[in-house]
Amino acid sequence: MSRSQQITVLGATGSIGLSTLDVIARHPDRYQVFALSGFTRLSELLALCVRHVPRFAVVPEVAAARTLQDDLRAAGLSTRVLVGEEGLCQVASDPEVDTVMAAIVGAAGLRPTLAAVEAGKKILLANKEALVMSGALFMQAVRQSGSVLLPIDSEHNAIFQCMPLDYARGLEAVGVRRILLTASGGPFRQTPMAELAHVSPDQACAHPNWSMGRKISVDSASMMNKGLELIEACWLFDARPSQVEVVVHPQSVIHSLVDYVDGSVLAQLGNPDMRTPIANALAWPERIDSGVAPLDLFAIARLDFQAPDEERFPCLRLARQAAEAGNSAPAMLNAANEVAVAAFLDERVRYPEIASIIEEVLNLEPVVAVGDLEAVFTADAKARLLAGQWLSRHGR
Ligand code: NDP
Ligand code: MG
Repeated sequence: MSRSQQITVLGATGSIGLSTLDVIARHPDRYQVFALSGFTRLSELLALCVRHVPRFAVVPEVAAARTLQDDLRAAGLSTRVLVGEEGLCQVASDPEVDTVMAAIVGAAGLRPTLAAVEAGKKILLANKEALVMSGALFMQAVRQSGSVLLPIDSEHNAIFQCMPLDYARGLEAVGVRRILLTASGGPFRQTPMAELAHVSPDQACAHPNWSMGRKISVDSASMMNKGLELIEACWLFDARPSQVEVVVHPQSVIHSLVDYVDGSVLAQLGNPDMRTPIANALAWPERIDSGVAPLDLFAIARLDFQAPDEERFPCLRLARQAAEAGNSAPAMLNAANEVAVAAFLDERVRYPEIASIIEEVLNLEPVVAVGDLEAVFTADAKARLLAGQWLSRHGR
């Protein structure tokens, strides 16, 4: 290997960001940190800078940038602090950067991720919301720039590993019949329905198998995460929604499967630890140590599968409808969900109301074509406004 790869980690202070830095630190000969970004956890960002010595750090506003710059200087580092979305786009597209880990949560990650795509970087995509919002434009930008797009979401990384190398020719052409997207079912898979109105944010965030940020944890509890992943899979693998089947698999050992016309079904298995897909994408097409323990099949002993229950998980139904509708519908679904989940985490709405808010927004606003990024952000803003109106009408 010639020189080490320069990596920008957007969302470095989050769960995916930290796992990424853990894998990178295991391979100092291969990878060097070029830039790190944080949003609220800025003392953690300082500690990460001291540990990884990036060229740049990015924070949301000027006052925080001054403080961090002073602290970095005091620590003897020459890391330069940049500010806001402009700073994020700059470190995502800098000519010296090889690879960008897109691990900001939510719509806030879209512009910086697209900046990396347009600059032709290798993209490690954790920020599924960016692809859900702007799928057609995003994939068009990937094709135009020749950027290599590798999925970090464990399911999509599993599907990627089970696909033939030439899957971009189309699923039919390579003999793929279906994608089987596995879901754990989250913490409320068996909770009596009547109790769901009283579950707390901490209960929703207590995922049985994965340790993740709070927003995606709530999405996993409601299965909106699987709905967003269904849309994500359609874009990544050029599949129709009807070609993606959700399979509830409570152990989270099989991360997804690909079903071929000859009856072969390929699966990727592993311990539920995001360092596996991160290491896979970082080193692809090579393999590197991720720090993840070997899978112990004897300890796991059994694997279970169930059909998803759309009455229990209405968000999954809403996401499938948005996937079928296409155009502005996925951006609206995503934005309404972001508002509803934030309100749930603030204890302003009850858990079942997350789905009610999203359903109302999708029913109120007609689906329109989204030909450019501005149209995507207009749909996003409209959905946030309507979700906000739901909250004020209900006194929240
Ligand atoms: P976290 O909440 O743990 O981290 C989110 C990161 O984004 C943090 O660095 C946070 O900064 C930063 N951030 C938050 N809001 C903004 C904003 N408005 N502008 C800029 N930066 C912001 O989330 P996760 O790491 O769990 O998830 C990140 C992404 O990866 C999500 O899209 C999620 O769906 C996806 N993903 C996560 C998985 C997981 O296992 N965690 C699995 C599969 C996908 P700070 O912390 O400093 O506030
Ligand atoms: Mg996932």
